[in-house]
Amino acid sequence: MNRLKIDDCPVCKSKQSECYISTNALMHKVNQEEYRFKKCMDCESVFLENPVPENVLDDYYTDNYLPYKGDEAWGKFKSFVAKSQEQLDTRRMKIVANCIKNKKSFTILDVGCGNPSFLVKVQKELNAECTGIDFSDNGWKDKSYENLTLIKTTISDFNPNMKFDIITLWHYLEHDYHLEETVEKLQNFLNTDGQLIIEVPNYKSITAQFQKQFWQGWHSPRHLTLFSKNGFLRLFNQDKWTLVKYCQYGTLDAFTLWWLGKMEKKKCHWAGSMEQEFWPLVFLKIVTFPFFLFEKVFPMGIQLIIFKKNTFHS
Ligand SMILES: [Zn+2]
Repeated sequence: MNRLKIDDCPVCKSKQSECYISTNALMHKVNQEEYRFKKCMDCESVFLENPVPENVLDDYYTDNYLPYKGDEAWGKFKSFVAKSQEQLDTRRMKIVANCIKNKKSFTILDVGCGNPSFLVKVQKELNAECTGIDFSDNGWKDKSYENLTLIKTTISDFNPNMKFDIITLWHYLEHDYHLEETVEKLQNFLNTDGQLIIEVPNYKSITAQFQKQFWQGWHSPRHLTLFSKNGFLRLFNQDKWTLVKYCQYGTLDAFTLWWLGKMEKKKCHWAGSMEQEFWPLVFLKIVTFPFFLFEKVFPMGIQLIIFKKNTFHS
């Protein structure tokens, strides 16, 4: 298959890197495709050396891709899964609420919004003017969302006629093919003092070390970059951005990421129903509960970082 070749670190442009790990295509049909990740010796981000061209990515968002199927994949247990999605949206909404503090109204852009349940919650609970963008409209085309502006576009093609107080990127940035350009566009999209909330997988976490090539944070070939904290600080240049907060945990619970890796290892038939996996999952959740209690102490799989756009004085 036709592949691209990335030599320099996409985060800091360093030419010094070493082989880190190789995986098959994950959350996909059984395959022998090889994806090689390299670790930048400079900023310690890890990047995919041989990604597929952007225009063939659709081949990896099929029935095997669980997030697109949402709670429907869980058959008679779908209401439990819908409930956990709602809890996830609530955790995300609270982070936004914390960023905007006492503002009566504000504008928010969610990049890679998919099914816009998070924006629905923000609109309802925080009275925000909400915009969501995604390269695919699969997440919303069959429903009507009167109070949201939803646009099928990429960041590079998006030219909004307004500025935003908050931009959220929940598991988006690791997919991005044009990091430098994206960061510049995000800077332009934000209002003065606007904030950027980013959540991505953490390859330095315990689940990544433990699950190796099956860890779902690699998500090959969909994920191109796994960021280190240092990488973030290089990409979001301190002249233009101020670090507000960095956490070695996020809103997506680390158990879910770990469980997906466990399913990968046992060669899960992703395109099939997940119904028979429900009770084993509940059992695992209970058994591992004491371990994942330490999510806020040790890095378990997810990281969250918030930047504020600097105000320029001329
Ligand atoms: Zn680097």
